[in-house]
Amino acid sequence: MFKKKPINLKKIIPIAAPTPKSKYKGVNGKIHSIETFGTLDGPGIRTVIFFEGCMLRCIYCHNVDMLDMKSFIEYTPRELVNKILPYKEYFDTSSGGVTVSGGDPFFQPKFLVEFLKECKKEGIHTCVDTSLCTARKNIDEVLPYADMFMVSLKHFDNKMHQKLTMVPNTRILENIRHLSKKKVRLWLRYVVLPGFTDTRSNLKALIKFCNEINFELIELLPYHEFGVYKWEELKLDYQLKKTRPPKWAKVFSIKKKLEDEGFRVLLNE
Ligand code: SF4
Repeated sequence: MFKKKPINLKKIIPIAAPTPKSKYKGVNGKIHSIETFGTLDGPGIRTVIFFEGCMLRCIYCHNVDMLDMKSFIEYTPRELVNKILPYKEYFDTSSGGVTVSGGDPFFQPKFLVEFLKECKKEGIHTCVDTSLCTARKNIDEVLPYADMFMVSLKHFDNKMHQKLTMVPNTRILENIRHLSKKKVRLWLRYVVLPGFTDTRSNLKALIKFCNEINFELIELLPYHEFGVYKWEELKLDYQLKKTRPPKWAKVFSIKKKLEDEGFRVLLNE
């Protein structure tokens, strides 16, 4: 997804005794980091869990350090829930909860389901932040335990989608339609990337798609360069070196265009 830098997990003091791994028969989660008191990833005050791994390879990825399955701490579902339980009072008083993000939480689908189940046992609101590039079966298994989804829309032209993310958009769009039919609480996220997603034709396709599905709001995320240093640290080639963040006038004009269609729009700065 498209995130600010998360808090280093090693700086967070453990708050619960771990489940002995020898007694735990399920699948462990590989968690890159945890951010507490987040206010940008769903409603209210939230703890954001950054899963390691992703199905996509976006050329503007802000969390490229979470894709290689090399930098993580392993948790059982219960250990991870114990980690966030002390913040439940903040969740309850702010209508917040936990957001699973990454990377992409569907990169570890079995652990995702088990973790969300544990959250629901504790009455914690759950939000899944994803590209939805996953098997339908994984989505259906998660549905009973997810209170809402935030789904990133990358591009409507399939060739451009592949250029931006290395995968086609077909399955993603079908999965969003599937969620829409289930009438789950759905927020869409859209990165405004100059020269790619802000073109007239792509915005037209975005509006057409939005008119065909049920969703609560669309969040605009202006492209930024805060994650470029990670590509440099990992000695990866950043293809968008010449691309600059969009002008605010452009972002506001897209916001107005969407609002004129009757959509609720959030601007995530
Ligand atoms: S979906 Fe794209 S931007 Fe989000 S974590 Fe995966 S590669 Fe990065």
